[in-house]
Amino acid sequence: MIDLRSDTVTRPTAAMRERMAAAEVGDDVFGDDPTVRRLQERLAEMTGHEAGLFFPSGTQSNLAGLMAHCARGEEFVIGAVGHSFKYEAGGAAVLGSLWPQPLEYEPDGSLDLKKVAALIKPDDAHFARTRLLVLENTQNGRVLPLSYIEEAAAFARGRGLAIHLDGARVFNAAVQLGVPVGAIARRFDSVSLCLSKGLGAPVGSVLVGRKDFIARVHRIRKMLGGGMRQAGVLAAAGLYALEHHVARLAEDHANARTLAEGLVGLPGLKLDPALVQTNMVFASMAPEKVDALTQHLQQAGIVILPNPNLRLVTHLDVSRKDVDAVIAAFHGFFAHA
Ligand SMILES: *Cc1c(COP(=O)(O)O)cnc(C)c1O
Repeated sequence: MIDLRSDTVTRPTAAMRERMAAAEVGDDVFGDDPTVRRLQERLAEMTGHEAGLFFPSGTQSNLAGLMAHCARGEEFVIGAVGHSFKYEAGGAAVLGSLWPQPLEYEPDGSLDLKKVAALIKPDDAHFARTRLLVLENTQNGRVLPLSYIEEAAAFARGRGLAIHLDGARVFNAAVQLGVPVGAIARRFDSVSLCLSKGLGAPVGSVLVGRKDFIARVHRIRKMLGGGMRQAGVLAAAGLYALEHHVARLAEDHANARTLAEGLVGLPGLKLDPALVQTNMVFASMAPEKVDALTQHLQQAGIVILPNPNLRLVTHLDVSRKDVDAVIAAFHGFFAHA
């Protein structure tokens, strides 16, 4: 099967499983797991932060980060389709009693800082206190320019806000820009990074930040049920991924570009290959043809999420040859549609 639904579908490679099986472990709730500690230290060092904490998911690491930045009743500004606003079941409000202030993303995936400024509430008893700005990088496959990140960080500092990055795919951004991940991550007060997306580990996210911040986050993680015991088995997969699966993200990006170029001009499919920056290709089509396309692709061993706004994601388990097969299957469908 060629699975284009997400980069979360990758399965651990044989070499990664070997590292997992051989991992030295301990009870991480007691702080005893050397492999978890190594992963946290490694990511703190790579991102230019003081400390890191391992989480079972990016949803939980974002939530714990937001809760450590904002107290009950305080507000965070976030993209209207930002993961922590739209795709985390409202956890920040339900579990954190935090008040989200959504704002539409600009076409490049940034938040317009003038619009953010207008949303910051004055110190007045009518309003929730604005505490935090949340950015996402990559946002729907789009990479935020380094100059914008610097500007946003300076803006937040000037306005007394903390700034958090949902960096589920920040390694894709770094590879696309040709910079170490620290060049992006060190501008933020905290960053949540996923090991289970393009990096190909089965489970796990790490939140990085200052030592005192991570100490607060540690208590919140326990509260949310995220304290794990012999988690070194999972952390070993993350360490393996950091060693072997970062530079190769460039292959996923090249495959996405090849895919987009191979689909351009098909009658009935709207797509601009110039918009492909990392491992995601977006295209749109007539809603009434989506089921037929999904079935046609299924017969060719290709899996997509059925949606008139198609999102096709390349990853570790999609080869260049697979991309050619996908292009051929799309041509087969749209030539007869
Ligand atoms: C996947 C993702 C997360 C975290 O998701 P989990 O499935 O909980 O690990 C957070 N933010 C973005 C942008 C994501 O794509």
